[in-house]
Amino acid sequence: MRNLERQTKVIATIGPASEDEATLTALFQEGVDVCRLNMAHAGHDWVRTITRRIREVGKRVGREPAVMMDIKGPEIRTGFRKEKIQLADGQKVDLVHKLQDFQPSHDCLPIDVNYSKLHEHLEPGNLVLLDNGLIRLEVLETEKGQVRCKVTEAGELGSRRHVNLPGTEVDLPSLTEKDMADALVGIQESHDFFALSFTRDAESIDLLRRFLSENGSEARIIAKIEDQSAVRNLDEIVRGADGLMVARGDLGIECAYEELPIIQRRAVGKCLALGKPVIVATHLLESMIDSPVPTRAEISDIANAVNEGADCLMLSGETTQGERPIECVRILNRIAGRIEQEITPGLTEELRLFRPKAKMLRSAAMLAMKLENSAVLVFTRSGDLAEKLAALRPNGAPVFAFTDVKGVHLRLRLLWGIEPFFMEFSEDPEQTILNAIEHLRSFEWVEKGDQLVTVTNVLAHGKVVESIQLREVE
Ligand code: PEP
Repeated sequence: MRNLERQTKVIATIGPASEDEATLTALFQEGVDVCRLNMAHAGHDWVRTITRRIREVGKRVGREPAVMMDIKGPEIRTGFRKEKIQLADGQKVDLVHKLQDFQPSHDCLPIDVNYSKLHEHLEPGNLVLLDNGLIRLEVLETEKGQVRCKVTEAGELGSRRHVNLPGTEVDLPSLTEKDMADALVGIQESHDFFALSFTRDAESIDLLRRFLSENGSEARIIAKIEDQSAVRNLDEIVRGADGLMVARGDLGIECAYEELPIIQRRAVGKCLALGKPVIVATHLLESMIDSPVPTRAEISDIANAVNEGADCLMLSGETTQGERPIECVRILNRIAGRIEQEITPGLTEELRLFRPKAKMLRSAAMLAMKLENSAVLVFTRSGDLAEKLAALRPNGAPVFAFTDVKGVHLRLRLLWGIEPFFMEFSEDPEQTILNAIEHLRSFEWVEKGDQLVTVTNVLAHGKVVESIQLREVE
């Protein structure tokens, strides 16, 4: 049995440091499971070109990753800026909506922001953070279309930087015009996942789901939790979404940072209990954007996410701008693979399984964990059984999931410990099992003598019966 290098999955955000064919090839050979395209920075032509390149390279490498479009959602950012500017302590700045319509005052630097109602939500004394909290502003006064602030923590401001208003609720629509235009491109390019930035409640997920379905997409929705309203509404968000991303970049600014590990633990636990995949994102290997080795704290942070039971670890700047995108993936492989060996084998107790066939999964997973050289083999059309098996976390036992539905095999890439395959199913369930085993054998996933705990339907006297069978590879 070929062991999976790691059961925790890896998402790489694609950008200038990773978009060329050679780097994508190397990333996929290292086992990247999902490629994320971040619409805060990407244009439509680029998305089309890169998606097609990802699909082609994936086919060539023989292991196609899924593609995730990350849409901006109700996110506030500063405007485009050709060159960085230095903001000094005590300097006054005006946050304005439409820079071109604004009469600058001689002692205030105007800074463009993409939100016209900023002045309605802020009052003197409030805190505004720019560029992931690196620059701090204090609000001095507000008037229509303009918020005058004083810089209290100096820094260099680049193009399209994040604006965070910790604890302040804004009424930006959950799905902006730009999000819909971006999502249409993702739909046309058959993206497998849409990650919704700043998901605040279940209603925003419904809105995106309706939009996807009206436009013919069955892609899965990943809710990004990034602010205090998402934390408050965590239960309904986990129930409404197909998966969750703990977007620690913004979350660590919008909430007190000592709360961050607590929120992460709660979010991962809730997803495990409901059988939904969960991604831990941002700053996993941030220092490696320009350093050859991770910090000791980063190693422990990754180990902690693996120990907590995250499905996926996500790289952002490390693979979009970093000097060593491939090395970052190798390091995640090493740490995740090693830590998984240390986890005491046992299945997720909190996961509640309702259908009899789903309940059988617990026994199948347990059996595969108990036997030497064994894996679970599951056949699934919707992907649901594979999702439940992943949520059980059968540590040390790979799960080979076969589906005959195009797209489902890619969506399964996100799930902990699942190695998905697309294959046409035969009319005869027995033939389908034999074909799957032959496929696994020919691609050297399994060898003679390995045991496959097989979850499938069988025909018994003309009746379809659900079964668990133990198949030895011949
Ligand atoms: C984050 O804030 O952690 C995140 C993943 O979101 P984005 O990269 O879109 O800012």
